[in-house]
Amino acid sequence: MSQDLYELLGVARDADGDAIKKAYRRLARQYHPDVNPDPEAQERFKEISLAYEVLSDPNKRASYDRGGDPFGGAAGGFGQGAGFSFTDIMDAFFGGGAGASAGRGPRPRERRGQDALIRLEVTLAEAAFGVTRELKVDTAVLCTTCRGEGTAAGTHPIPCETCHGAGEVAHVQRSFLGEIRTLRPCAACRGFGSIIPEPCRECSGDGRVRSRRTLTVKIPAGVDTGTRVQLAGEGEVGPGGGPAGDLYVEITIAPHATFTRHANDLHCTVTLPMTAAALGTTLTLPTLEADVVGEDGPADPELKTTFELEVRPGTQSGADRILRGLGVPGLRGGRGDLVVTIIVETPTKLDARQEELLRELAAIREEEAPSGQVRPGQKGVFGRLRDAFNH
Ligand code: ZN
Repeated sequence: MSQDLYELLGVARDADGDAIKKAYRRLARQYHPDVNPDPEAQERFKEISLAYEVLSDPNKRASYDRGGDPFGGAAGGFGQGAGFSFTDIMDAFFGGGAGASAGRGPRPRERRGQDALIRLEVTLAEAAFGVTRELKVDTAVLCTTCRGEGTAAGTHPIPCETCHGAGEVAHVQRSFLGEIRTLRPCAACRGFGSIIPEPCRECSGDGRVRSRRTLTVKIPAGVDTGTRVQLAGEGEVGPGGGPAGDLYVEITIAPHATFTRHANDLHCTVTLPMTAAALGTTLTLPTLEADVVGEDGPADPELKTTFELEVRPGTQSGADRILRGLGVPGLRGGRGDLVVTIIVETPTKLDARQEELLRELAAIREEEAPSGQVRPGQKGVFGRLRDAFNH
């Protein structure tokens, strides 16, 4: 597949069926061999027809969106025209039911509802170890008054008089392809084939009403900002009481006071006095698990809420210590690391005694008049990036 099918039709990736159909019709008028004898236009017409064949079919489109080959791996790709039928072109031009005999009958009132999306902010610990949350969701739900039928109590839909229940009426159209009789959805009943004489008052005949519900959502351990948790059948109920779409909960992680997350690794900074860095010490520091304890009552004895950080004598400012397995658990198992950056603090306020001691130390170390060692500049991330561009 050399070219993007959406680009070929000039539509956005989230274009709906109508937009795709419109785009195809516009391009087909321009490139159809009957109106444009140019051989290049013929090639183009084949391409846009194939693009339309894929994008107008929800299954093929979904497969294409997932990166699959919509032509089932057939060699050649464009120009093969495999599986493309004249009916598809006619459908695009005349809005379905092309040909006098290709009627499709009334369309059902009941249709699947749309998916819904809500955003949820969680703490870093909740994202790492999982959490169960109560969520308030606003979606269309089944109208309990009419149970989705859309009719007032004691009434029922009656057959449409215009199309006699067929949902379609015949039209004759002139086009560059000749005179063609087509079936179009009946305007009187909007293609349903029936009319609701007395709509349900609760839902105005839609079969569904908007409602606020509280849902209990289980967020699995290891989610990250942007992760979407799918709740099947918790989205919008469809028109006519059709099955509900899915609800997606999109996760955002709130900033943490101590830890920042990079993929499944955690990063933090520890500040140490100069003397401790020189002499070495052992620090006891809280893990991310410490956040979980306290909020959820009694601590799990298995939970490691602290870790020991051994600072070796002579540790330099900026040194990184990597603690394996103290990061964030992955969605598919495993666990990231904790990277601790040690910052050594130079004392700023010295009293007379401290200054005396430091001067004595400097004298012993013969550091009273240091020359300062000049070395090549240390390259940070930006320096390395610059190098990458220059070479
Ligand atoms: Zn109702």
